[in-house]
Amino acid sequence: MPKPELIDRYNRRLTYLRISITDRCNLRCLYCVPRDAIPKLRHTEVLRYEEILRLIRIGVCLGISKIRITGGEPLVRKGFDAFLSELNQIEGLADLSLTTNGVLLEDHIEKIRFAGIRRINVSLDTLNRKKYEQITGHDSFEKVWKGIRLAQDMGFDPIKINVVALNGINDDDLADLAELTFSYPFHIRFIEYMPIGNACLTCNRHLPADEIKTRIRCLGNLTPVKKEAYDGPADRYQLEGAKGEIGFISAISQHFCHRCNRLRLTASGHLRPCLLSDFQVDLKGPLRKGCLDSELVNLFLKTAHCKPYQHGLSMEHPTGVSGQMHAIGG
Ligand code: SAM
Repeated sequence: MPKPELIDRYNRRLTYLRISITDRCNLRCLYCVPRDAIPKLRHTEVLRYEEILRLIRIGVCLGISKIRITGGEPLVRKGFDAFLSELNQIEGLADLSLTTNGVLLEDHIEKIRFAGIRRINVSLDTLNRKKYEQITGHDSFEKVWKGIRLAQDMGFDPIKINVVALNGINDDDLADLAELTFSYPFHIRFIEYMPIGNACLTCNRHLPADEIKTRIRCLGNLTPVKKEAYDGPADRYQLEGAKGEIGFISAISQHFCHRCNRLRLTASGHLRPCLLSDFQVDLKGPLRKGCLDSELVNLFLKTAHCKPYQHGLSMEHPTGVSGQMHAIGG
C-alpha cells in the first residue's frame, strides 16, 4: 500500500501546517480582533500540548515538513517553551518557526532559542510609538523593538517583520519600515489587509500590493530575489545596497491559491484547509473520544480533499468569512 499523503483534488501537496496554540492575545490590533467583545475559549476547549503533538506526528507521517506556531499570541500560553522543545525533536520536520507580536519576546527569547527555534516572524506595523498604540491598543512599541534587536543579537535568522498595510492608518509608515532593510538584515513583509470576521476596520483600509510598492518607491528599485525551497507566499525583493529583503503578501489583489500548500490547526482543535473559508474539520472531538491514529489520518485526508481551489474573498465580497483572524492564527 502506498503511504497516504496530503495531496488535494488539484494536485497541491500540503506540506505546511500552521498551528494556533491559543486564541488569547495581549494586544487588540484593529485589523485582527472583532468589533464586539471577544469570545474566549474555555481552557478545556483548547487543545492540550500533548494533543497537538500527537496531531503533528500524524501530519508529519502524511508529509507535513514545515510548521509555524502562532496564536492568538503564542507567548502568552504557559509552557510554550517545553512544547517547542518537544516539537523540535520530532523527526521529519525541516522547518519550524514562530509568529509573535513580540511584546514578550525580550522576556522569553532565551527559552525560544533553547527550544531550538531560529526563525521568527514579529508583527510590527509602524515605527511610531503613538501609532503603534493606536493600532494595537497598547504602548508596547519599545518592548517589541528591543525584543527584535535582541533576537538579532542572538543570531535568529531570518527575522521577518510582518506589516499589515492599512490605508489611512500606517500607509505613511511603510517607507520607514522598508528603509530598515538598509541597516538591518530583516525581511519586511507587507501583508494586504484581509477583511474577515467581524473586524473593526472597513474595506477601504485595504491597500493592494501595487499601491504599497508605490509608497516605498522613493527608496529605490526593487530587484526580485530568487525563490527558495521553503519560501512562503511572499513575492520577495531587495532594494539596492540593502542588507534585508522586502516581501509582499497579496492575498487579495493577486492571490496565490494555486500554490497554497497550507493547512491550519486552530486552538480549538479544528483543521482548516483555507484561511479564507469557514470550512473546518473537528479533530478534538474524535481525539478526546479515544479514536485511533488511523481515524485521525482519515480526517487529515478529508480536510485536504476539501481544500477549495481558491478563496472567494474580494473587496467586492468582503463578508464571506465569519472566522476571526485571532482565532485562526493568520
Ligand atoms: N499574535 C501573533 C502576531 O501578532 O504575530 C500571531 C497571531 S496573528 C493573527 C498572525 C498574523 O496575522 C500577524 O502577522 C498579523 O499581522 C496577521 N493578521 C491578523 N489579522 C489580519 C488581517 N485582518 N489581515 C491580514 N493579516 C492579518
